[in-house]
Amino acid sequence: MSGDTVSREPVAVVGAGPVGLTAALVLARSGVRVTLLESRETLATESRASTFHPSTLDLLDELGVAAALRRQGRTVDRVQWRDLDGFVHAELDYSLLAGHTGHPYRLHVEQARLTPLLLAELTATGLADIRFGTTVTGADHIGGGGTGGGGAGGATGGRTGGETGGGGGVRLRTEDAAGRVTVTRHPYVLAADGSRSTLRALAGLPGTAEEYPDYALRVVTGTPLDELVPGLAPLSYVRDTRASFSALGMPDHWRLIFRIPRGTDRDAVLAPEAVRVRVEQALPGAAGKAVRIDDAHTYRLARFLLPRYRAGRVLFAGDAAHLTSTAGGLNMNCGIHDAVETGRALASVLRGDAPGETALDTALERRRSVVETAVIPRSEARTAGLDSAAELPARLASLRRTAADPRSAVDYLLKASLLDVAPRPLKGDAHADLVSQAHR
Ligand SMILES: Cc1cc2nc3c(=O)[nH]c(=O)nc-3n(C[C@H](O)[C@H](O)[C@H](O)COP(=O)(O)OP(=O)(O)OC[C@H]3O[C@@H](n4cnc5c(N)ncnc54)[C@H](O)[C@@H]3O)c2cc1C
Repeated sequence: MSGDTVSREPVAVVGAGPVGLTAALVLARSGVRVTLLESRETLATESRASTFHPSTLDLLDELGVAAALRRQGRTVDRVQWRDLDGFVHAELDYSLLAGHTGHPYRLHVEQARLTPLLLAELTATGLADIRFGTTVTGADHIGGGGTGGGGAGGATGGRTGGETGGGGGVRLRTEDAAGRVTVTRHPYVLAADGSRSTLRALAGLPGTAEEYPDYALRVVTGTPLDELVPGLAPLSYVRDTRASFSALGMPDHWRLIFRIPRGTDRDAVLAPEAVRVRVEQALPGAAGKAVRIDDAHTYRLARFLLPRYRAGRVLFAGDAAHLTSTAGGLNMNCGIHDAVETGRALASVLRGDAPGETALDTALERRRSVVETAVIPRSEARTAGLDSAAELPARLASLRRTAADPRSAVDYLLKASLLDVAPRPLKGDAHADLVSQAHR
């Protein structure tokens, strides 16, 4: 590449999803200049993740956006497991987490409500060059190995701080909507470019996800289900050999999420009559009352974990680095945690708080380990054995025991919320001590 424009911004963040925006804001708040590159012309508005766990709300609070997000969402005070006849096997109250988090509740709100808040805060820092309609199409390392060659610690020959005039780093090629090409250089690139990550492909890293045996059917209804189904909690898991699904109360609608065996014809599953029958069977408590079906769609469920979270000076976070089933609502939450932990560590390297990149490598290895040891197993455990008439009674009995024992209930909620593995807020509550006490 020739005719490089020397960027004044030390770090390029690729992707203005929840993860890239969080990372860019963490860096900018630490005094690091960033360039945020996003191929879309505007922020995404599609309905995707909707669950914010207490650990994530603590971190978003630190960034100054949790209160505004809460005003737009539905606060969920309890989680419930019930059967189709309305028998409640177990219920856990999020208030048990008071003292472990500043936010002892889940928040149900679209991720598209978070991103504008993050973007406004990022803009307000005055340290971000934000470029929509800009797609990264090329990346190669300067003076220290290619993006494909560098493992953790690779391509570290150049300077790590200050301006980007020389030494190691990454040369990025971008294209705008008119096809104009720009080349910029950055000592680090943070790839938060989602599950189909271009940066991952450019680095030659593997990107094939393993599909789960089921896909998801999401049915959206504007009917207030908690008024039709007695006692239905805003987060309810219906576990029954006849039908298992999740019901999530959103501020202005409900979502029912069913798992459908892979190989089942999607058109047949989505046929309006099939959806209506499925919903009627799922909500016998609402029998005779009309449940309005506003939308139904399917999405694939897959597992993926990058073997390492950096290729030289390109660092990976969020869906670009990992994916798991949406059960438990962990993907986006974990991605936001990646953004905070990696962003903080990168800022400390750029500030020269300690020599070398040890803090950065430690953070990246920890983020990967959290996915491997906590996020993927916990998400998969949510739905394991649900379809087995032999296993389900034992699963439900175990949940009843958990609900009956306050220590077990707290432990369950801490883990479900990722409070035991999330980066800790830097200010505010006694979260860290309390979590470690709970695990003694
Ligand atoms: C239907 C659905 C339901 C989901 N439900 C849940 C849930 O309940 N709970 C949960 O935790 N998660 C859920 N998820 C996952 C959640 O949406 C993702 O984990 C989250 O969006 C990841 O954020 P991200 O910033 O890593 O990636 P993304 O949100 O995908 O953002 C990546 C951004 O990078 C941009 N980009 C890509 N390539 C380039 C390029 N070459 N140059 C410049 N920009 C680029 C894209 O345009 C995009 O804006 C769901 C996902 C789907 C699809």
